[in-house]
Amino acid sequence: YMKIDKKHIQQRLRLSEVEVAKDESNPFFERDHNKCVLCGICVRTCQEIAKVSAIDFAGRGGNTKIATFGDKPIADSRCVSCGECVIRCPVGALTFRNLRRPAKEVKTICPYCSVGCGILLGVRDDTVINVRGDIENPVSRGYVCVKGRFGLGFVHSPERLTSPLIRKNKSNPLTPPFTKGGLGGFAEVSWEEALDLVASRLNKYKGEEFALIASTKCTNEDNYIAQKFARVVMSSNNIDTSARLCHTSSISALLETEVGTAFKSLDEIGRSACILIVGANVTSSHPIVGLKIKKAVENGAKLIVISPKEIDICRFALVWLKPYPGTDLALIMGMGKVIFDEGLYDNASIEKQCDNFEDFKDSLDGFPSGRVERITGVSRNKVEEAARIFATSKPAAIFWSTGVTQFSQGRSNVLAILNLSLLTGNAERSYPLWGQNNALGAWYVGCMPDFYPGFQPVKESGIRKKFEAAWGVDLNPEPGLTFTEILSALIEEKIKALYIIGSDPVLNAPAQLVREALKKAEFIVLQDIFLNKTAEFAHVILPAVSFAEKDGTFTNTEGRIQKIRKAVEPVGNSRPDWQIICDLAKRLGSGGFDFASPEDIAFEISSIIPELPDRKDSFRLTPLQYKPPAEVSDIDYPLILITERDLYSGGLLSKKVEGLNILRTKDFVYINPKDAADFEIKDGEAVKVISRWGEISGVARLTSSTPSGLVMMNLLEEKINQLVNPSIDPTAKTPELKICAVRVTAQI
Ligand code: SF4
Repeated sequence: YMKIDKKHIQQRLRLSEVEVAKDESNPFFERDHNKCVLCGICVRTCQEIAKVSAIDFAGRGGNTKIATFGDKPIADSRCVSCGECVIRCPVGALTFRNLRRPAKEVKTICPYCSVGCGILLGVRDDTVINVRGDIENPVSRGYVCVKGRFGLGFVHSPERLTSPLIRKNKSNPLTPPFTKGGLGGFAEVSWEEALDLVASRLNKYKGEEFALIASTKCTNEDNYIAQKFARVVMSSNNIDTSARLCHTSSISALLETEVGTAFKSLDEIGRSACILIVGANVTSSHPIVGLKIKKAVENGAKLIVISPKEIDICRFALVWLKPYPGTDLALIMGMGKVIFDEGLYDNASIEKQCDNFEDFKDSLDGFPSGRVERITGVSRNKVEEAARIFATSKPAAIFWSTGVTQFSQGRSNVLAILNLSLLTGNAERSYPLWGQNNALGAWYVGCMPDFYPGFQPVKESGIRKKFEAAWGVDLNPEPGLTFTEILSALIEEKIKALYIIGSDPVLNAPAQLVREALKKAEFIVLQDIFLNKTAEFAHVILPAVSFAEKDGTFTNTEGRIQKIRKAVEPVGNSRPDWQIICDLAKRLGSGGFDFASPEDIAFEISSIIPELPDRKDSFRLTPLQYKPPAEVSDIDYPLILITERDLYSGGLLSKKVEGLNILRTKDFVYINPKDAADFEIKDGEAVKVISRWGEISGVARLTSSTPSGLVMMNLLEEKINQLVNPSIDPTAKTPELKICAVRVTAQI
């Protein structure tokens, strides 16, 4: 053996004489080029596992290094901060910031979106210090996006509510920003005092004067108790969630067509020959579904994307259709007409499963290719190409989200999508991508004004009797009001007391409606983990616990019920939502709220409702007509604003995570360079966006990915609901939050 002395090794391993600056631009991890051995694992991970391709080898010879496109800082590149490269770097060139070894790991579910990825919370000193993807989870199999891996710092945010608060002085309005340092007219009180006050005030508003907004972020058990409280204790069916503002059009259409919400495994993505995405920027809103779709495309699935503007997944599409915003129904029915005319429909499955084919067929006559082309702006050749691919590649899956649901015709848009599924024999592959993590669960356990748990209609007396027997009370026989109707009823002073759990109407609902409504309320209770915008109107604020401090279950977009587990103790005096409501129910003298744990509640739920119902074998095709959106552009408001969800935005929770705030696109107003030239707007300039309903400010970003005629902003910018029009879907009562007509001017 050759003798190798220490000095020799040091010489062979000496570091490069040129010190390359670290890339510290990303708030969650950093890259030290000086430690990099150019093994390329990060490059292959980004290309082959994360399917983002944000980094590659750059330079030649001794100057070779790993770089982003244009050698920009990583935070300014297309990197999505998923962290997959960091966990695979073998030499510590990529490292997480604040790295500590956890003392234990707790298996639970990500609380952000409805994919419901499995995660392991690393805990030390009663603090969540890191997160790993759970490879045993059947949904995500170890993958997580930036919010799941790095977005859970909100659990230990210093801004968490820790004690009940009572407004002591009504003449002292709160001054935003409303932080714990400045409680305005609120004082910290004991739970006894707060609950006694709430119980005594609510006693006066039993029946139609009471409404409850439950939370799509809370567990199934929390939500079951919330709706039981409204119905049993307060004798009111006025119970709804903020999902009314985004996806009730989907639920309404799924129930109406009988396609329903039966379990649909996301594994089917990998078995699909064709995937159609409509109205969903899936890699931002549901990143792990986006990843599954990218993998399916690499394995041969044909991808069709319907989106007015260029989105990340368009890179993978075989066909990208760019309709004018709000014209999706015409486009999809147009595809249906091509499929019918060319005899490409699945006759066997229609004969076996579908009612109403004749009427539906007649309504297709309203969508000849010329008319569809004029309405949508998509050439007839493209519509025909997409229709043929979709009908002949079997099986085919459809994914949709708020890009079609948040319209005054949202329910009809979803009915058109379901028609296309049924026509081609793909009913079991129609996937709504719910916004919040537990929207489906909240609905299923009864947080809807017209349905008891298990989507059982309030107005059917047999069903009402069943629930009366189970809960031991007489129930209000009238279906209640929806979220938007509750706001109107507050303005009309028909509803006087409002209980809001884990929801922020001031941020989410059309501004011109919500502020007036909340000002009129005689009594508002807000139960949340943070002070939100709605706190300004509340009389009592009750501190709840986060997902990491409680047990329970979430139901994901597939309909899969997954367990969440307590990892750390509740902060301060905060309490689980179900416990707060049960205490209140007992104070109001009601029985049936003696639960010792979420398992007890889950037992009652399972005894009262079946699991998500099995798929039926008879569906309804729906004849449809096209109606334009409530607002179109005109000479005063020549552009159409479309809103979209940013990858780093997940409502109030993500706003409490500093790193996500750094990466989040701020007040950008994305506008096509041609339009910008017409309106004399420069890139980076401060602008005003003015609609018929209000105006907000922002910063212009010129980009050709936004087509001429459109402007794009991030939906979760808290100002955006000041611009949108208050028109709602006549059946689903979902407001048209997705688009409105605007003009953009430079700020003087
Ligand atoms: Fe969480 Fe959704 Fe990201 Fe999964 S895809 S980690 S559930 S935010």
